[in-house]
Amino acid sequence: MDFKQIFIQILLAILATVIAELMRDIYHVAGHYWTPLQAAHTLHHKAYRRDLSIVSLEAYRKAQWHNDTPEATAMLLLTGAIAFAFDQPGLWFGCLYSAGFLATAIARSQGFLLETDLTHKPGDLTEIPSVWTVNRTYHWRHHFDQGNAYFCGHYTFLDKMLGTSLSLKGKTIAITGASGTMGRSLMSKLANKAQK
Ligand SMILES: [Zn+2]
Ligand SMILES: [Zn+2]
Repeated sequence: MDFKQIFIQILLAILATVIAELMRDIYHVAGHYWTPLQAAHTLHHKAYRRDLSIVSLEAYRKAQWHNDTPEATAMLLLTGAIAFAFDQPGLWFGCLYSAGFLATAIARSQGFLLETDLTHKPGDLTEIPSVWTVNRTYHWRHHFDQGNAYFCGHYTFLDKMLGTSLSLKGKTIAITGASGTMGRSLMSKLANKAQK
């Protein structure tokens, strides 16, 4: 393989992970609007408290098995089909990427892995929702503020296309508990953002 070929395969590998993430987000939107998936996705929403700590180990494991495991399976199937159809080695990286999420979802559902993913780490929110990639605050808003928006899990493309990534521009934001440490740091971040 010459340098150009390697470069193309690396780009295809990155593209494959973006496709995998798009599948995750489509599956998530379906979990909210398509009846056959709704009950399983509700388990995911019910597994977390407002500070993103888990309600119980049982609820967490159940949600991982009924929501996260099939979600990662869908990612694996789509990236596998695309890699198979186009027969480019770089595209198989999407499968490896998805298989990683499938393995951790299964491990979590069986109680082998208690470390949760980045968007569900418990504790105070210290950042405002991010713009192109999903941070904890972005996903928190999906759970507890706007259940019909902020669907994306890693990149925010799909929300941008659906118009479900709310922008801060021209919006009045009410901050509850503004006098606490978290409220104060959010206020100063918002003020910075408004100045830009
Ligand atoms: Zn959801
Ligand atoms: Zn979530």
